[in-house]
Amino acid sequence: MVRARGGRGARVQAPQVHVARDRISMSKKYKGKTCTYCTVPKSSTTGDHVVAREFFPLDKRANLPKVPACGRCNVAKSKLEHYLTAVMPFGSNTPDGRRVMMELVADRLRNNLALTRHLVEGARIKPISPDGGRSWQEQHTLPFDSSKLVQLLRLIGKGMAFTHWGVLLPDRDVVLYGDFLVSAGATGMEMLLASKRANSTGKIVLGDGVFTYEGIQDPDWPTFTVWRMALYGGTYDGDQNAPHEQVSSAYVMSAPRGLKAATDLIHSLRRPRNGEPPDRAA
Ligand SMILES: [Zn+2]
Repeated sequence: MVRARGGRGARVQAPQVHVARDRISMSKKYKGKTCTYCTVPKSSTTGDHVVAREFFPLDKRANLPKVPACGRCNVAKSKLEHYLTAVMPFGSNTPDGRRVMMELVADRLRNNLALTRHLVEGARIKPISPDGGRSWQEQHTLPFDSSKLVQLLRLIGKGMAFTHWGVLLPDRDVVLYGDFLVSAGATGMEMLLASKRANSTGKIVLGDGVFTYEGIQDPDWPTFTVWRMALYGGTYDGDQNAPHEQVSSAYVMSAPRGLKAATDLIHSLRRPRNGEPPDRAA
């Protein structure tokens, strides 16, 4: 039986009214604006969490960055997130990632039996070398479509550029690159990230390390941005120059089409991936 608490009810209600008003103003804030992802003016219908809430444990979802998004981009991004939030926690090296795994992923897989079967059938034990071939360990691996992660990271790059600097990255004006990089490619990106001239976000940690990132923006070219991102501290196979090297940081770079040195760098880094549409020519 539920018993009414005499007198105190009124005091409890006041903050609820406040919260309701907050929600109304929040939803208006994201409607009818330029979509951050496709950059079509006045097309946004919702506020999209740049890094989906489902990547985080239930109690670590406060103050995650949000941007205006249109329905189409929101659905397309959700599809990527639906897959990645079910699969990526398996590779987590962070305590919160492991919590998501224990508390949330079992339900996600129960609701997606086709994906569960695909993961079980594709599970392998694989030799990996943490030190470039001197020693080898066994690692349990699951099939993972990393092209989906790369697509999502590029969208996150767009979302973060808007969050930090209010800058949109339209495909017609900007070449967008995103991938896991080892050796030379990563060194180049780190040099850009260390640039003293650039506007920097500093190192930002969301959800106690579930997602960490850092970005810079060129002061003369606002759409020239570089990002280092890591999700769950997991590791992935390296790039084509070192396929057995394990990497945990991805880099996203946006370059204005007029800035030849930057677009040339992106073209030199690009590699084809299975199942991914070819990038538009610069
Ligand atoms: Zn859109």
